[in-house]
Amino acid sequence: MSRIVMMGPPGVGKGTQAALLAVASGVPAVSTGDLFREHVRSQTPLGLDVSALLAAGEYVPDEVTNAMVAERLAAPDARAGFILDGYPRTLPQLAELDRMLGDTAALDAVVLLHADVDEIVSRILLRAEQQGRADDTPEVVRRRIAVYRAETEPLADAYAEQGLLLRVDGVGTLDEVTARIHAALDEAAAA
Ligand code: ADP
Repeated sequence: MSRIVMMGPPGVGKGTQAALLAVASGVPAVSTGDLFREHVRSQTPLGLDVSALLAAGEYVPDEVTNAMVAERLAAPDARAGFILDGYPRTLPQLAELDRMLGDTAALDAVVLLHADVDEIVSRILLRAEQQGRADDTPEVVRRRIAVYRAETEPLADAYAEQGLLLRVDGVGTLDEVTARIHAALDEAAAA
């Protein structure tokens, strides 16, 4: 189980859990949100292009996102596997990831972390105090949740049809959620 996609609404904790799972699995976590924020911080041409979209809670166009992920997954450290955090997020991205991986390196599992909207919003507003992300204001959070529902939720059905989807309750302590993810992956590996 070393090629894993972590999905879930904004603020559900998928970034934290993806990073922990990456350490436990010995493969890199690849977070498109982190990669974009790094470009914005470093003021690269890509960063300058996408900063307004990130600040508004809108998705970056698929071609831009796909190209960035393809480059990252081609790096030697991703050959043994990866934990994808925040990608794919649209149906065209899902198709592009399948194409990138080909038959030999298909996904092992897709972990969908879920939580209700009130829980999510309160977590994000707490995180806003700690991290100061530009897109963690109440209005932008609502927009991000709406975009997630419209663009990304349909991917869960697509992955469920492929038999890859593992639904995991994202409400609880960090350790509880980590344990649930490991249990779900162990069960899937044994099946
Ligand atoms: P969250 O899941 O909490 O919204 P992320 O760090 O995963 O946070 O993403 C932050 C922002 O980065 C998104 O709102 C979007 O603007 C951009 N982004 C990240 N991943 C993608 C993607 N796969 N496709 C398009 N835009 C993306």
